[in-house]
Amino acid sequence: MPFGHDMVFSLTTVVELINTGTGGREGLGDVRELEDFVRRRMVSGVPEITPADLAAVRELREAFHEVFTAPDRATRVRLLNTLLGRTRITPRLTEHDGFPLHVHYFAPGATVAEHLAADCGVALAHVLVEDEWERLRTCAVPDCGQVFVDESRNRSRVYCDSRTCGNRMHVAAYRARRRPVS
Ligand SMILES: [Zn+2]
Ligand SMILES: [Zn+2]
Repeated sequence: MPFGHDMVFSLTTVVELINTGTGGREGLGDVRELEDFVRRRMVSGVPEITPADLAAVRELREAFHEVFTAPDRATRVRLLNTLLGRTRITPRLTEHDGFPLHVHYFAPGATVAEHLAADCGVALAHVLVEDEWERLRTCAVPDCGQVFVDESRNRSRVYCDSRTCGNRMHVAAYRARRRPVS
């Protein structure tokens, strides 16, 4: 993976965010679930979470999903520029919570949605600039819909999680091969 640690961290966050809304299950059903997400993804410095935050984060999740699944590069660039254009961004070097020196992009006093839009938006912009976009994938299992970052050296991963979706496909392929030809 040609990305630095904080970049990988932001990419993992945006993937997890999008996946709270895929596969027909709402993973951000209430304020509590958003609080859990904020804790799990260590989204730092956000004020108390409100129902308005929940609505804003869900909307942002849609916008990120559209960027992720855009049909071509021109569309991705346009959608991401729109997203970044309405986000307050303030680069700032920081060393909080024992992490090595890294750059935060969210503005002081940012809400959780603004924080995610800034930091994840910039991370995605760098992926485009580095021409590594094909690492951002949607699972090959048709009804799965989960997105993931392919960190494999030869960019060959096609399933969101090799233990579940990967297995399902392997079993299906195995059964198809064993089907008697009569
Ligand atoms: Zn940080
Ligand atoms: Zn999957």
